[in-house]
Amino acid sequence: MIDSYGRKIDYIRFSITDKCNYRCKYCMPEDGVLDIGHQSVLRYEELLAVAKSAVSLGITKFRITGGEPLVRRGVVDFIKKLKEIEGVKEVAMTTNGSLLKDYAKDLKEAGLDRVNVSLDTLRYDRFKEITRTGNLEDVYAGINEAVKEGLTPIKINVVVMKGFNEDEVMDFVQMTLQHPFEVRFIELMPFSGNVSLNGSLISNEEIKKMLPLLKPLEINDGVARLYTYPQAKGRIGFISPLSSCFCDKCNKVRVTSDGKLKTCLHSNKEIDLNKALQEAEKTAFRDLSPVIEEIKKAILSKERRHSISPGKAVTKRNMNSIGG
Ligand code: SAM
Ligand code: SF4
Repeated sequence: MIDSYGRKIDYIRFSITDKCNYRCKYCMPEDGVLDIGHQSVLRYEELLAVAKSAVSLGITKFRITGGEPLVRRGVVDFIKKLKEIEGVKEVAMTTNGSLLKDYAKDLKEAGLDRVNVSLDTLRYDRFKEITRTGNLEDVYAGINEAVKEGLTPIKINVVVMKGFNEDEVMDFVQMTLQHPFEVRFIELMPFSGNVSLNGSLISNEEIKKMLPLLKPLEINDGVARLYTYPQAKGRIGFISPLSSCFCDKCNKVRVTSDGKLKTCLHSNKEIDLNKALQEAEKTAFRDLSPVIEEIKKAILSKERRHSISPGKAVTKRNMNSIGG
């Protein structure tokens, strides 16, 4: 479907839970999130109804995220059913990797195409510091298993923060010399829950200056600008929501775990899908027109661009509940 600014919207991200087994400093409060209650979380059959409705409007790509998607029970079966929907071309997942070792095989069999794994540091002590609860070994084991099962190409999401991990940029680049991964440097975005990190933003322009041998590739990967390093097996992506707004290329909308459709990660506007889903459920989800209408209206009201700037958050939600 084409939005009011001529952008083709063909991609939805589902945050299937706002819960997580990590507490990354820039994403989650240390003591976790308030329980929104089982009742408020969209059931898988509701998510599948949203997916079918979206497909009828030309959405073909799906990403399962959270919170940590692998902490929600039944996720493998959900992915299988999602992938079986006619018209669904790609299903990917963003995960912290902690549980991938146990899930990679089943996810692949269920039809998951590939994973993005978030990894901000390659140092054990720092990993504990940033995730507050995580263990780097688990993530390495998860990545290895994902490679073995062919959940590829693997993308590694790295949020670079001043005074914290900017000295590891070269180590991540090194990773692309040895492995066919796409390492993506993501600028730290301001959310109401991470104001204490306001001074930690480091722009991707600054990172590029650290990497003089970087060569741009002709292609982009969604909103990531792609580069390569001499002799690299993989590539390097830069996602720069602050220093180089990519909103004119935005092709996605998001659905929160409590059933709100967000047309922009940084907007407070939310379209509640719950009522339309209740209507559709009266027909055992055979008539999806109420849901289709809501999604259509939402896409047509998609903002031209976000209005964040360094240190200025807009949305009241944090990333874990919106789905990154
Ligand atoms: N738990 C999964 C994970 O960590 O990959 C999926 C959800 S997480 C919210 C999705 C992505 O959002 C991660 O790559 C994370 O680093 C990124 N993220 C979270 N908060 C962010 C922020 N304030 N700025 C930039 N990226 C952020
Ligand atoms: Fe959890 Fe992902 Fe947020 Fe870290 S970034 S706290 S792993 S949801």
